Formats: sequence, C-alpha cells, structure tokens
Amino acid sequence: MSNRATRGILERLHNGIVLGAEGYVFELERRGYIKAGPYVPEVVLDAPEAVKELHREFLRAGCEVMVALTYYAHREKLKDVGRENDLERMNRQAVRLANEVAREGDALVAGNICNTWAYDLHDVQASSKVVRAMYEEQLGWAVEEGIDFVIAETNDYLGEALIGLEVIKQLGLPAMVTLASVQPEHTRDGYTYAEACKILADHGADIVGLNCDRGPQTMLPLIEQVRAVVPGYVAVQPVPYKTTASAPTFEALTRNGERAFPLALEPFMCTRFEMADFALQAQALGVNYIGICCGGAPHYVRAMAEVLGRTTPASKYSPAIELHPMLGVQVEEKDQEFLADWKS
Ligand SMILES: [Zn+2]
Repeated sequence: MSNRATRGILERLHNGIVLGAEGYVFELERRGYIKAGPYVPEVVLDAPEAVKELHREFLRAGCEVMVALTYYAHREKLKDVGRENDLERMNRQAVRLANEVAREGDALVAGNICNTWAYDLHDVQASSKVVRAMYEEQLGWAVEEGIDFVIAETNDYLGEALIGLEVIKQLGLPAMVTLASVQPEHTRDGYTYAEACKILADHGADIVGLNCDRGPQTMLPLIEQVRAVVPGYVAVQPVPYKTTASAPTFEALTRNGERAFPLALEPFMCTRFEMADFALQAQALGVNYIGICCGGAPHYVRAMAEVLGRTTPASKYSPAIELHPMLGVQVEEKDQEFLADWKS
C-alpha cells in the first residue's frame, strides 16, 4: 500500500486545474515495448522499468496523475494474445509501478479501465454482465494495491461507461469517466457527447469529458458543448495530432491516399506550442482536468504545465533557443512571441 498523496483528486480540482497525461500504450509501442495491433500492455510484466521511466518522465513534466497501465489489460484482450493467465499479475503490477513513481513526487494514482470490445448493443443484458465482471476484477485488484481514484476512458458506448461508473462507485472511489468521440456527433449507442456526459454526471461521475481520437482543433468545440451542460468537473485529453473538420479524428487522417493511423501519424503531430495553446484554450473554456492521450509525450506535458503557470522538475531544461547562435534566428515569429509570453 502506498503513502497517499497530500491531496485527493477532488480537493485538487476544487483548488484549480489538474494536469494529466496518458498515451502510455502508444508511446511504449514507439519505444519498442508493446506490439501494435493487439496493444496489450505486456510491458508491465516484460519490462517494468520502461513503464516506470515513462511515468517518471510525465511526473517530471508536471503531470499530477500516474495512470496505472491497465489499458486493455482485461480478460478479453489478454485472451487474444494468449496471456490470460497473467491477467491478475499484470493488473497488480501496473498499479504498483504507478504507486512507486507517484511517491517520487506528490502525484495521485489512478486505476484505469477502458472500452472492452465485449459490450454488445444486440445483447446488452448478457454483454453487460461480461463487462461488469471484467471491471470488477480489474478494479478489485487495483484497490488492493492502492489507488486514489479511477479513470474509465475511451468509452464508445454510454451504456458501457455507466457500468464502469457503477463499479467505481460501489468501491467508494471518485470516478472520472470520459468518452471516445470517434463518431461525428454521437456515442455508438446514439447519445450526443454532451448528453452522454450529462447523464454520467447525473449518475454520480465526479469528472466527465472526452479523451482520445480527436486532436485539439476538433475536440475543443465538443468539450465546449459538454462544459455548457455539465455543472461539475470536466476533463479533456485529446491526441496531439492536427485533426481537421474533414478528418476530425486521427483514425480519419490520410496521406497520399493512405490511412495514417496508427503507425504513420508523425506528419500530423502538433508542436509543443500548439499543445500549450490547447491547454490555454481548455482553461479558458473552464475545463478542470487537462491532459493528453495517444501520441502524448513528456515535452508536450511540460509545455502545457508551464503555460498554465507551473514550474516542473523538467523545467530546468526548458528551451533557451535564443542562447543558440544559429538556431535562435530560425524560430518562427509566432513561436518567438509564445516563448516571450511564456517567460514573462
Ligand atoms: Zn488515446
């Protein structure tokens, strides 16, 4: 069991914006520790130091929440890769790793559940049981290892999100529930994203919002709608990619006629300045929990933290491009202005 952080998630949100960071699976795939395709976090058992290092990098960059890497570490997915027997070990270890690093700073630990691919609109009753059982076993282990709250994320269905919420509330923990906005306007069970968030909040979710799929430009208008109808805390964690009105999700981005998702997305990456600008826009909208999802990396998190007025351990090495005799002149005017603002 960990030494708990000095303030819980609700206390922190009451006092101001909480900065989060995710995208562990995407980043650890890029680093060579997770197989693209199944995207199961086998790294938790196979290379735990790699997981801890990424937690630590996010922590140093100003992230306040270490999210246990249990994304896709559920029964259905582990079956696909023949590691069903490692289910409990993987889940417990993921929470332990998050705790070990959280204690190096003053970060919270979030248990994590996600879309299961088991929820079936054609058989809601039976599939709900399967989903509930998976969430109960994952979070049961997480609670035993020590978590501060739970993030249920990347939910395609409001129905599935509500099951996650119920399980979290049964455990007596604060719940953050966020939806994947992969469809143009509605969840896969037909609710607008704002409606679905409102229903989740009405059912007791402490924090609701959106994560993954959309970049800043296409997620901000949706989160504005969520903010308008949800009186409580709102979370936003976009992917750092330049999605557009015609390609509103990173799955929809194409280059030379080919789909860029998930392995050829680099040409669409946002700069750190664009992600910092996103953090400011989210703050202006009144969003309470601001983070990043797939594609996220520590340099983005640090830029977001600093633009929100924070100094992080990694700020010691923040850019001083003007000190480089040649590179300084190549910084674009817009970025120069940003750096000037940033430092004042
Ligand atoms: Zn994501």
